[in-house]
Amino acid sequence: MIGTQKEVINWALEQDKDKKLEIKIYRPKRGLKANSYYWELENELANVLRIDNETLHFLLLQKYGQVEMVSVLADIDVSGYFKYYIEAGESILNGKIFKHYKVYKGSSEMDSREMSILINGLVEECKEQRNRNKTRSRSKSYVGGVEMSKRSNACEISPKTKEIVWNRDSQRCIYCGKWVTKTFANAHYIKRSQGGLGIPENVVTLCSECHYQEDHGLNTQIYEDYIENYLKNYYGESWNKEKLIYKKYN
Ligand SMILES: [Zn+2]
Repeated sequence: MIGTQKEVINWALEQDKDKKLEIKIYRPKRGLKANSYYWELENELANVLRIDNETLHFLLLQKYGQVEMVSVLADIDVSGYFKYYIEAGESILNGKIFKHYKVYKGSSEMDSREMSILINGLVEECKEQRNRNKTRSRSKSYVGGVEMSKRSNACEISPKTKEIVWNRDSQRCIYCGKWVTKTFANAHYIKRSQGGLGIPENVVTLCSECHYQEDHGLNTQIYEDYIENYLKNYYGESWNKEKLIYKKYN
């Protein structure tokens, strides 16, 4: 039975007295179209970014999804209850330790409004990624003036630099410690778009997940600070942000 307030009440009054009824707020079902559109696009973006679908999906939920704070006794393992969640601290209440979690709604539980927020977010991410690829290929192939190509060469990371960086970082993502191949020694501390040079002092090894988080995540600042400290630690006093940026008349 679906209807207005009055219709529902009238209908309820006509039912058997011993029957139990349940009233819910009606939410129109989401079209399957929206769902399959989302996953098709998500899959494409995951391929371009070279991360797996689930990782990207969770990142999108964190950015464009619906979140709820949930507190649970600390010794309860919540991994069976929630699919998408992050720990968000703990506190003591009446002598018991409670852990707090940010729990994200899965896309299958979303109503059509929530789903369209998620889809719009994904579409924006794709646009951004497309623009980034455009500017990248333009600076290489078009003649945007000699200055531009000089700069883009200086910001490029050569295979030799990658080799040095990868070995310096023990062939691991400097953030999470995951072992990665040499191609991942490709994360600029000062971004290419800001004239960041492709020299070991400005480049670190990051796995695809951490690299994505550094570029587009919620806490890009945390990653940037982490990388800065890492490089400072390694190169000592002589490491200086100013030396990492392309200067016209070098
Ligand atoms: Zn990592």
